[in-house]
Amino acid sequence: IVHMDKINKHFGNLHVLKDVELDVAAGEVVVIIGASGSGKSTLIRCVNGLEEFQGGSIEVDGQSLIPHGKSHRALKTIRTEVGMVFQQFNLFPHMKVRDNVSLAPIKVRGSDRATAERQADTLLERVNILEQADKYPGQLSGGQQQRVAIARSLAMEPRLMLFDEPTSALDPEMIGEVLDVMRELAREGMTMMIVTHEMSFAREVADRVIFIHQGAIVEQGRPEEIFDHPQHPRTQSFLARVL
Ligand code: ATP
Ligand code: MG
Repeated sequence: IVHMDKINKHFGNLHVLKDVELDVAAGEVVVIIGASGSGKSTLIRCVNGLEEFQGGSIEVDGQSLIPHGKSHRALKTIRTEVGMVFQQFNLFPHMKVRDNVSLAPIKVRGSDRATAERQADTLLERVNILEQADKYPGQLSGGQQQRVAIARSLAMEPRLMLFDEPTSALDPEMIGEVLDVMRELAREGMTMMIVTHEMSFAREVADRVIFIHQGAIVEQGRPEEIFDHPQHPRTQSFLARVL
């Protein structure tokens, strides 16, 4: 469903992504790990067109992204088909939880309000937070807000979900409830690309783990290969620091 072909990206003089080749199959869960500044966020932001790149091409669910952001039609489609959850929850603070979740289906899909709200409640139930539907985001804990953010993404029935350190801004006791929701999504067959520092979670849910160093994929494989038998010295020293 995702095909990245020789992606190169620069920020000024900084070469942030170097000939990145990455395919993701439908239903696959890919976890991306690497040191701070290695290009993890930039990589997944390229997939839904939040970042432009200078060389290569990306195909997402049959839509092609080309360099320099010159793919307006494809971008529009990709943004409706790819969900993204960030470290910061980015909910609309002046809207109730239910309205946060039903907004995009109403505005983008043209769903009628009653249907969109029913669907929102089903999703809120799925992320275990239906009882908070009439509250505002500011009245919720970080873990609850992040689950609302996931429900909001799911409301567009995405073909692919991107997660960029979804638990990094959370207090430790709230990390588990968000990972539970992601685990459940993975189990249901959602295609996911996840940047995380939660290594035991990665080991458990990933079909494939990708280690990126200074903008290049240096090693990838099944979680047990990467975590138990890393081949590349960079992977070994990274894991020695974080495990
Ligand atoms: P972290 O684990 O800290 O989130 P990361 O692996 O996600 O790091 P990126 O955010 O992708 O790393 O950044 C890769 C490199 O690109 C870093 O050196 C960063 O400073 C640089 N960078 C990121 N965004 C920009 C930008 N908008 N302008 C210039 N440089 C940037
Ligand atoms: Mg990042």
